Amino acid sequence: MVIPMTRKHILVVEDEDKIARLLCDYLKEAGFRTSSQANGRRVIAQVKRELPDLILLDIMLPGKDGMALCREIRQFSDVPIIMITARVEEIDRLLGLELGADDYICKPFSPREVVARVKAIFRRVGAAPRAKQMVVGAISLDDETHRVIVDKKALNLTPSEFGLLKIMMRQPNRVFSRSELINRVQGYDFEGYDRTIDTHIKNLRKKIAQILPDQEIISTVYGVGYRFNETPD
Ligand code: CA
Repeated sequence: MVIPMTRKHILVVEDEDKIARLLCDYLKEAGFRTSSQANGRRVIAQVKRELPDLILLDIMLPGKDGMALCREIRQFSDVPIIMITARVEEIDRLLGLELGADDYICKPFSPREVVARVKAIFRRVGAAPRAKQMVVGAISLDDETHRVIVDKKALNLTPSEFGLLKIMMRQPNRVFSRSELINRVQGYDFEGYDRTIDTHIKNLRKKIAQILPDQEIISTVYGVGYRFNETPD
């Protein structure tokens, strides 16, 4: 028998058994594989073990809440995360918390809506695959050769600048906090201080602006961090 490994695996983190089962049923019906977890304390280990393709993450959980979990997962993984909250008013607050989630859904939700949101995220991720080569707008980045081409001209970047650009290009239009960027570029021999990040971003912008002077490719989001713009205004 051929095991359909191409089916995406979704981890449902939800302590209300009925909701968890309902979500899993609908997701399976839509062609996904699922697993679930009700205890916040067991989530990180399960994510590391199962490497899900997407996580549905309830906020109110026993053991550890969804916000803390989202931050923790972001320290080691880019996996898409959809946060589930019981209060619609909470979404604004959550957005300001720079958790690094990809989407938010409010209870009560229809399982159909959740499935639609999951599919939408996979379409987005699929459109910008984590391949060795990425092209976003006028910028193309090759992870193997460490070359960045902007409008057919090569950009001469330091390893830190390259690392930052790569992380942000993978998820255009998503806001990254400084601490998140620091954590993610550590593999690039980075001295992890907020001001160091600012300096690297400044230099990166300067280099890109030499080729694309009229476009804001990297925006500062005040009080939060930085964003790579897919379609510069
Ligand atoms: Ca809950």
